[in-house]
Amino acid sequence: MKTWLNVPADHDFSIYNLPFGIYSMEGVAPRAGIAIGDYVVDLQRCQNMGMFSDLLAPTMNVFKRKTLNRFIRKGKEITSGVRKIIQDELCKEDSFLRDETLSLLTPRDQVKMHLPVRVGDYTDFYSSREHATNVGAMFRDPDNALLPNWLHIPVGYHGRASSIIPSGKSIRRPQGQTMPKDAEQPVFGPSKRLDFELEVACVIGKNSKLGTSVSTEDAEDYIFGLVLFNDWSARDIQKWEYVPLGPFLGKNFASSISPWIVPLEALEHLKVGGYDQKDPEPLPYLKYEGDKNYDIELEVAIKTEDGSETTISRSNYKHLYWTMVQQLAHHTVNGCNLRVGDMLASGTISAPDESGYGSMLELSWAGSKEIPLSNGETRKFIEDGDTVIMRGFGNKDGKRVGFGEVRTKVLPSK
Ligand code: CA
Repeated sequence: MKTWLNVPADHDFSIYNLPFGIYSMEGVAPRAGIAIGDYVVDLQRCQNMGMFSDLLAPTMNVFKRKTLNRFIRKGKEITSGVRKIIQDELCKEDSFLRDETLSLLTPRDQVKMHLPVRVGDYTDFYSSREHATNVGAMFRDPDNALLPNWLHIPVGYHGRASSIIPSGKSIRRPQGQTMPKDAEQPVFGPSKRLDFELEVACVIGKNSKLGTSVSTEDAEDYIFGLVLFNDWSARDIQKWEYVPLGPFLGKNFASSISPWIVPLEALEHLKVGGYDQKDPEPLPYLKYEGDKNYDIELEVAIKTEDGSETTISRSNYKHLYWTMVQQLAHHTVNGCNLRVGDMLASGTISAPDESGYGSMLELSWAGSKEIPLSNGETRKFIEDGDTVIMRGFGNKDGKRVGFGEVRTKVLPSK
């Protein structure tokens, strides 16, 4: 495929990608767009031009909205169809997308990105064996780092959807109750151990029925696409509160996502095999056929207030032990239903090697090591004024498909 638009070969938003997002700009209220190179395609105007007349009635208002939920709910036949039409137009020499008087393309540096979906429910898994092993070794027992259930269950918890924010929005350092080492009473104040978690989340694209379950075989039909996901974590708050019911205020103050949803079909060529799950074998409902992992390179950088940026971790989505289809099958096996717009995050994705650990907790080994930055400073956890940036992309056979980035600055507690 070759587009007439100038898109550098190393661009995340290639002709093979075409992710969906919600944007606005001066004089243009929030609406749906597709990213290509440094531009965004205005899907509302394209619909007005009759480009999607075989798929959507001209009066069907799915694009001029604050979220993609209504569009996604139309199903993959429609969403993939719209994407295909834009892909064809971007390759067609005489396409009217090229007619500048129609303003169908806008430079992306002129638009503001919003949360792409209204997230109904958010679930966070814990599916990287390396991450679970590291955390278990730090907080429990290095010889029995994995709890007995971990290799049998894609462990997860229900998170908070209200505090999911798009890239670019700053967060405030959370305050809360912690139990300092050797103290006898808990104290209240700003978290001293603010951390990120490098994750990828899937956006649910199809409702499932309450009381029914989704098989690993059918799971992909229920996934619209993926985004980068930074599960902000306050380790000191988390440590004091998590027994016996798990994550709460140490987690629910913010999660940041990349604003462009990469459709699952754009990642097909990046599929790779998963971990060998022979010892132990999962129960039958968690078994699956074929390649269900993805070769997506992931990285985390810290940008300090002097403008210098240091990449502190390089991981890959393929290091997930439990694949997305297993997560969906497990989530629904008891009859729990999925709804369009729900977000299921992977859990921190840590590489086997320490250069690819997916959190400061692991990189600094619970604060026992300094992480050097390019400006000479060091970090154990995230400080006020730091911006955490996550990036991700895959590239196979010259087809690069990336997520852009999720970037969040940390402001002091109020
Ligand atoms: Ca997490």
